[in-house]
Amino acid sequence: MATIRDVMPEFALYRPTGAADAVGLLDKYGADAWAMAGGQDSLDWFKDRIKRPKVVVDLSMVDELRGIRPLEGGLEIGALTTLSEVERHPQVRAKFSLLAQAAGAAASPQIRNRGTLGGNASQDSRCWYYRSGFDCYRAGGHTCYADTPVGQNREHAVFGAGRCVTVNPSDTAPALAALDARMVIRSVTGTREVAAVDYFVGPEIDITRLTVLGPGDLLTAVRIPGTWAGADFHFEKVRDRQVWDFALVNIAAAFLPAVGGGAVGDARIVLNGVAPRPLRLSRVEDFLRGKARDAATAETAGAMAAQGAEPLQHNGYKVALARNLVARAVLGTGRGHGGGKEAA
Ligand SMILES: Cc1cc2nc3c(=O)[nH]c(=O)nc-3n(C[C@H](O)[C@H](O)[C@H](O)COP(=O)(O)OP(=O)(O)OC[C@H]3O[C@@H](n4cnc5c(N)ncnc54)[C@H](O)[C@@H]3O)c2cc1C
Ligand code: SF4
Repeated sequence: MATIRDVMPEFALYRPTGAADAVGLLDKYGADAWAMAGGQDSLDWFKDRIKRPKVVVDLSMVDELRGIRPLEGGLEIGALTTLSEVERHPQVRAKFSLLAQAAGAAASPQIRNRGTLGGNASQDSRCWYYRSGFDCYRAGGHTCYADTPVGQNREHAVFGAGRCVTVNPSDTAPALAALDARMVIRSVTGTREVAAVDYFVGPEIDITRLTVLGPGDLLTAVRIPGTWAGADFHFEKVRDRQVWDFALVNIAAAFLPAVGGGAVGDARIVLNGVAPRPLRLSRVEDFLRGKARDAATAETAGAMAAQGAEPLQHNGYKVALARNLVARAVLGTGRGHGGGKEAA
């Protein structure tokens, strides 16, 4: 069980000023090291004494990881760019308003001013058993406390759960997946790019983490191709209260018209909050190509999205939410609902 204290456990703090030094430190200390960006998730883990890294590599002085630059019709966004900067940047708003809306829907204005895009996409599970220090599967134990007859699982997964029924909590993750973004990861052995849909992992790949990042890895940037620039976007987030709250279910969708207009030419639809990783609805996307965005299409797309759901005792409502959010995305209704509108 968690022991809440008013001081954090001791750790060695490093504050590198270059990405190469940061990567060197992460490599040197391996599983004992923790990369900290804005600290909005990290510090809670430390204060609750659930995560006790021996070494914290504070990235906040690594300026080369900040900023938003044009890249072959798209954009490259440094991992340390804050959510507020992403939300407000003119090029993000003009080309990829989906991401601007997703960033603006996360947490609260204060958290968005400190929290970074890389940290938001890489944040860990919010399952309260795990975050309270229970020795569940994700923590290396032998059970899932959320998936028992008495488990509190209102916020948990309805798709693709396996042994762990947690969900990915990030608002920007589904937008990055819908935009076909690529995540740039640097380690001492070099730099690799991973498609956003593959950056997020479920328990079938690794039950102890939500992304492919391993010890020694530093996310340096997110590259968004020009493919979806200016598409017809739809972001919607359903949450219990309109600020400072995680999504129960959110959706990020992009539509390109067919040549000549009218029908759908191509589509990306990604749900989050329903599975351990953002759920790209490839079958729905295939169905939508060539279809008109009308009520009949929306109803079928919504029904397809709900297929295969396996709700737990307390989260059956998420299946209806998934179905209706997909239908609304196809129709373009409720567009932008749930975005951040509070004063900064
Ligand atoms: C009260 C509250 C409400 C919140 N509500 C929401 C919400 O509605 N929606 C939402 O999406 N989020 C929400 N969050 C989460 C918050 O937005 C994220 O925790 C925050 O954006 C993380 O960014 P950060 O830069 O502070 O990351 P940190 O806390 O510093 O890091 C988060 C994780 O990412 C890793 N990491 C960060 N940067 C890198 C990097 N460059 N390379 C490798 N690993 C890295 C860290 O090691 C750590 O595991 C909420 C948080 C709080 C406290
Ligand atoms: S859902 Fe995952 S994180 Fe939560 S108790 Fe079960 S195993 Fe642990």
